[in-house]
Amino acid sequence: MRHVLILGGTAEARALAAVLPDEGFEVTSSLAGRVKRPKMPVGSVRVGGFGGIDGMRAALVDYDAVVDATHPFAATISANAVAACASRQMPLLRLERPGWEERGHSSWRWVDTHAEAAEAAAECGKRPFLTVGRQRLGEFTEPLKDLAVLARVVDEPALDLPPAWQLIRDRGPYTQAAEYSVLHENHVDVLVTKNSGGEYTWPKMQAAYELDVPIVIVRRPPVPDGVPMVTDVDEAVAWLHAES
Ligand code: NAP
Repeated sequence: MRHVLILGGTAEARALAAVLPDEGFEVTSSLAGRVKRPKMPVGSVRVGGFGGIDGMRAALVDYDAVVDATHPFAATISANAVAACASRQMPLLRLERPGWEERGHSSWRWVDTHAEAAEAAAECGKRPFLTVGRQRLGEFTEPLKDLAVLARVVDEPALDLPPAWQLIRDRGPYTQAAEYSVLHENHVDVLVTKNSGGEYTWPKMQAAYELDVPIVIVRRPPVPDGVPMVTDVDEAVAWLHAES
């Protein structure tokens, strides 16, 4: 039986892990181990970094193919997978959910980096709602230290937040009604997000649109060159069968 390593941490990765055994594949999912209580995929799971490209290269001895289904903004692990798989001539597929470009509104303010997002947020409002993840908050603390920022994270961040900031700890999926309430009741006047794409975190975008709240959105990092890419689980299954 072909053994597939799924680089995970996303809903797509969990969905792929759930269907592959019925398709005749053995599966191991890999998680970074950042979140205290991660949503676990079904089946076999390994947790923690591999130790860079060399560590991943060594680990690949146990597998026949790799599906990189990590988050679109997890650029380091994706680049490591390209290098490690190339050095072993191991088939590598990128499974990446479509971004929100096609659903975008002309009023969205697109930026390339989180630092630019902080600047844009300060220009747009006084009560920004940061939904960029715990690991990126450090890029906002100094530029937005005097604003009454509302920041939503899954786990407590390991940094001191400015006294004016308010933290919400929660995790998706979110409903549109709940997102509307969060924005409305907290008087949010600018939403800051990454172009995560997919349905899971889309309701905040729709709520912001309904409330006429401007959106600052960070573009995705570039996709590594030369790696075949699909956008849904069915296509990933088809690719794996073709590679077998
Ligand atoms: P990253 O910056 O690309 O990766 C940093 C390091 O974390 C990697 O070099 C690797 O360590 C380890 N790592 C990352 N993903 C791993 C995985 N699936 N399995 C084993 N090791 C992994 O990643 P990140 O942005 O910190 O994201 C970490 C994880 O959270 C990813 O798996 C991603 O799918 C998930 N996630 C990220 C975001 C986001 O906005 N970035 C959002 C939702 C979920 P070694 O070099 O030691 O191998």
